[in-house]
Amino acid sequence: MDGTGTLMMNRFNTKKNSKYEFKKDAAMKRGEYEEIVSADEKICILKWKDNKVNSWMEYRQDCRANKMKTKDILDLLAFRLSVSEYLLAGSPRAAGDNREPEFAEMPSSSRYRPKPLPSVDKQRDGYNHWPVMDTLKEPRVCRAIKCTSRTRCRCSKCDVYLFLTKDRNCFYDFHN
Ligand SMILES: [Zn+2]
Ligand SMILES: [Zn+2]
Repeated sequence: MDGTGTLMMNRFNTKKNSKYEFKKDAAMKRGEYEEIVSADEKICILKWKDNKVNSWMEYRQDCRANKMKTKDILDLLAFRLSVSEYLLAGSPRAAGDNREPEFAEMPSSSRYRPKPLPSVDKQRDGYNHWPVMDTLKEPRVCRAIKCTSRTRCRCSKCDVYLFLTKDRNCFYDFHN
C-alpha cells in the first residue's frame, strides 16, 4: 500500500470537483461502507461509518496495490473471520515468509566488487608480493591487463586476483 489518508468529506464530496457523491451520513447504517475507485485504479476512497471497517479498507488497498484479481480479494465477512483466526492462532505465515526474494536468492558472488588496483609504485616494488590461494566458491577474474581468466590466486600485498599456472603466469606479468 502506497499510503492511506483521511479526507474531510467537504474536500471531496463537492459536486463541483467530483463526478461521484457519497451517501449522506444520516442515510448510512453503522458498519456500512461505500467504496469508489478512480478510473486509473490508483486511488481508492472508502467512506465508512464504523472504525471496525478500517483494517478491512487497508487490506483491500493492499490487494489492489499487489494487483490481485478481484475474485481473490476476500469479502468483508471472510476477512473478519481470517482476522479473528489470526488473532487466535497467531500469524499463519511461517517466519521469514515475507522476506524480499531478490535479496534471499541473490548469489553471494554477484555482490563481489573487485578491489581497486594498487598504485603502480606498489604494484612494481618487487617486495613482499606473495601468491595466496583463497577458498572461494567461484574463482574471480584475473586483474592482469586484457586477461579474462578466472582464478583463486591472490597477491597478498596488492589484494587482487591473478592467474597463476605452469603455462601462464599473470602473477609475474602483473608485477613487472
Ligand atoms: Zn602484488
Ligand atoms: Zn590473467
